[in-house]
Amino acid sequence: MHEVMKELRRAVYKETVSTVEVIELVAKLEKEKHFLRYGFSSLHQYLVRGLKYSDGAANRRIRAARLYLKKPEVCELLRRREVSLCTLSEILDEPEMLSEIKGKSKREVEELVALKGGKDTRIRERVVPVVVKRAIEQKPVFSTLPAGGQSVTPPPVVIRQEVVLEERLKVTFSYSKQKSEKIERAREILSRKYSGKGVSIEDLFLEGINQILAAEGSKKERMGTRKERGSKNRRYISPKVKKEVLERDGGCCTYRNTDGSVCGSRWSVEFDHITPVALGGVSSVENLRLLCRNHNQLMARDAGLIR
Ligand SMILES: [Zn+2]
Repeated sequence: MHEVMKELRRAVYKETVSTVEVIELVAKLEKEKHFLRYGFSSLHQYLVRGLKYSDGAANRRIRAARLYLKKPEVCELLRRREVSLCTLSEILDEPEMLSEIKGKSKREVEELVALKGGKDTRIRERVVPVVVKRAIEQKPVFSTLPAGGQSVTPPPVVIRQEVVLEERLKVTFSYSKQKSEKIERAREILSRKYSGKGVSIEDLFLEGINQILAAEGSKKERMGTRKERGSKNRRYISPKVKKEVLERDGGCCTYRNTDGSVCGSRWSVEFDHITPVALGGVSSVENLRLLCRNHNQLMARDAGLIR
């Protein structure tokens, strides 16, 4: 065998050994959750932000680690290269299929899962960040007069085309035939509101989201006024205070680690009393901060409020 091929073989072996080691450590971290104390709100966030894995690479490692926690033989199969992170990732919800996927490609495993997995054969929902060309802006560029020239004719105007890139999220999912009829009806209704203009699935999706948020907003307002009038609940936070805290903290978890890094998660963000209500803390802007659920629970555990 050629020397380069031999060298590659050795490198691949080392890579496999490292991958297995990574999966074992990710699994350990998944159980022990040390990343919470270092300003990360989830294992995924730590792998992406802290370790610079791509979104997909982080997901594959986390799914493989979770499978390993259910089926410890995963690492031996990885070491023997009989399964890959991709194929493992497909059977997280069907761990008993592990023995059947040995030596199979991702496509073959997908088919197996669709045939045998049974429970849910929908196309897995995916959200992928993409960069798209938004528009081509036409920018006029005025050419300068030649040096010392007292030109009578105005300088020519050159139109320069500028490409503007935009970051978007691409969503893939599937729905049943029955739902598709409903969607068409909704599309017609919305099309009337849009005065006959075409309605995309994106329009429908955003319209639905706006309605959910509006409903939640009016519910909170109603609850707020009811509480303000009635109870003297010290945990009660007025909408005005909530708004100020939300604005001050930018809607993000403010958990700060000793090295100064801030969690910044927007996932399940909650209002936290810095001095707990149980210890006489009040619901003022100064005594409130935003924490994600994981960090809120961590602080409560540290304060001995929950186990
Ligand atoms: Zn957090």
